[in-house]
Amino acid sequence: MTASIKTAPSCADPWDADSKTVAQARDLIESSIPRLEDVEALPIRDSLGRISSEVVISTIDVPGHANSAMDGFAIPGSSLPAQGIAEFTEIGIAYAGKTFDGECRQNECVRIMTGAVVPEGTDTVIMQEQVELLDNQTIRIGPNHRAGENVRAAGEDIKAGEAVLQPGSKINPADLGILASLGIGTLNVIRKPVVAFFSTGDELVSIDKPLAKGEIYDSNRYTLYGMLSQLEVDIIDMGVIRDEPGAIRSGLLEASQKADLIITTGGVSVGEADYIKSILEEIGQTEFWKIAIKPGRPLTFGSIGKSIFMGLPGNPVAVMVTFSLFVTHAIRKLAGAPSSQIHLLQARALQDLRKKPGRHEYIRGIVSKGANNEWQVEKTGMQGSGILTSMSRANCFIVLPAENKGVKKGDLVDIQLFDLA
Ligand code: AMP
Ligand code: MG
Repeated sequence: MTASIKTAPSCADPWDADSKTVAQARDLIESSIPRLEDVEALPIRDSLGRISSEVVISTIDVPGHANSAMDGFAIPGSSLPAQGIAEFTEIGIAYAGKTFDGECRQNECVRIMTGAVVPEGTDTVIMQEQVELLDNQTIRIGPNHRAGENVRAAGEDIKAGEAVLQPGSKINPADLGILASLGIGTLNVIRKPVVAFFSTGDELVSIDKPLAKGEIYDSNRYTLYGMLSQLEVDIIDMGVIRDEPGAIRSGLLEASQKADLIITTGGVSVGEADYIKSILEEIGQTEFWKIAIKPGRPLTFGSIGKSIFMGLPGNPVAVMVTFSLFVTHAIRKLAGAPSSQIHLLQARALQDLRKKPGRHEYIRGIVSKGANNEWQVEKTGMQGSGILTSMSRANCFIVLPAENKGVKKGDLVDIQLFDLA
């Protein structure tokens, strides 16, 4: 007889056949979540960070007229000396917003300010510092200038008829400026997704109560609040719900009346008190995923009525990892934004990193510039999925792909920066 027992797949295993890869899970999220269709018209300032639902086409050229890029003298380029020096007679001044209405002939010039419309007969501006002032009326210009220099063409930024925003464009500060430069004051955007969330667990206590033995404070609702606040969503915090099927069922039904996306944490493993999956099966559509990822293997994905449901694991670091990979992706799809890409950079490992092949690992790292000007990364210390300080100290994930069998000090590894700012 062999001395072995038959075990079920668990999160201690390196791999199990039912697991999805991170990429498969993201593809399924992308393909199964519909875009919100409701649109609201906002004053352009309020549209910052939101997703345009319309194509915006310019009706004007920007700039509207050829104008000067410098303070200097506008001249006909054909009067520039090929060699030697040419003299020009000043016939007037052009200011930004106050045009010079005369016309320049050969060897005449107009003193011009930055942004002023280039006068009739001129196509070139010579910088003030590059001319010699002879007297009040005459300037001298040397060789080595080019006809057309320092003039901004009409429509060189935007041409009438050109699209400046597409449906799905995320409005950034430059876009606000572009809309303003077209004289557009209102933009149609997709409404914000409404996200409701609650924590599950009999051990969880709100932060205003004392802890009894075995109890812990609920931290997930705070990290979730923090991560959601950085996105353009409306948030409904539904508090803590006990591990009681009736309470979880009514919490989920209530959330589905109000929210486009429902997020819970905890109760998605295979323990006696893990009810999320079976309740979702009863009141909605469910897909339970094991994802070949560490930390954060179990994830419940599905829908209740019109709401999308994402049941994240309970462990605080697993919540943050799965949020950054899957919840953000889901919210972008709901909001009609272009799908998020995961940008990986490379850095040199400052230490050995142990790993068994099978799961995509997200190790919390600190990336910095080394003495040789090369990016280098070290892990933040203990990496248990409950060690939230490992997230607080980190500025990146060290991302080790499933097949990786461990890293030696000095190897190049992939990193995913938390914040490019
Ligand atoms: P579960 O997925 O419910 O088995 O929870 C996994 C682990 O995460 C347990 O150690 C829980 O105590 C912990 N946990 C679950 N929810 C929270 C929460 N809201 N805040 C802090 N820790 C939690
Ligand atoms: Mg639990």
